[in-house]
Amino acid sequence: MRLMKGTANASAALSGPGTVNVCETFTSLQGESTFAGLTCFFIRLAGCNLRCAYCDTPQAFGPGTDVPVPELASAAAASGAAMSEITGGEPLLQEGCAALASRLLEETGRPVLVETNGTRDISVLPDGVVTVMDVKCPGSGAGASFDEANLRRLRPADQVKFVVCDAGDYEWSRAFAARHALYARCAAVLFSPAWGRLAPAELARWIIRDSLPARLQVPLHKVVGVR
Ligand code: SF4
Repeated sequence: MRLMKGTANASAALSGPGTVNVCETFTSLQGESTFAGLTCFFIRLAGCNLRCAYCDTPQAFGPGTDVPVPELASAAAASGAAMSEITGGEPLLQEGCAALASRLLEETGRPVLVETNGTRDISVLPDGVVTVMDVKCPGSGAGASFDEANLRRLRPADQVKFVVCDAGDYEWSRAFAARHALYARCAAVLFSPAWGRLAPAELARWIIRDSLPARLQVPLHKVVGVR
């Protein structure tokens, strides 16, 4: 894939609909949704408006490289991966994210996921895209960041994820999901342990104890040990 020369101080917000500012692309296993385990072509867009306590991708904070949308879609199709995903950083900071998602759908004919931190309007994404939306818990340090208007923008195939740091986060997430009838609004409600902070078995015990209709979601790529 040919990368256009980036600008050292390029702001992700400056990228137009035909271009996105990219941190990196790579093929790996999807690890954080009901699609976990499938091969996936990842497009990590640059820039994030949060600084979560457990963030494992600080490389996405800085400026990336401007890449035309068609080149990324061609690369996804050529990768042979079972699906593609736009992630970040926060991909919805960029105007070109929706156009990229649309082009990926057209060109690959395979599932397209967009992972978002829940702070930006998800309704800009085209039909057919699956949004995997975080609701940030207090333990993230960004617990007040969620745009609650996104709850009514969820589509049936979308998924909502809580990354849980501790028992307090678990109770907070459980109450949030119940208060907003989340299980009826989307395809899956994912409870994921913050990696290295909460043992997956502990979170599993809480979910079983409470017969919670959430899905335990262990970040598969970290368990397997691939990026
Ligand atoms: S939203 Fe994601 S990329 Fe941004 S700081 Fe939080 S974990 Fe990191």
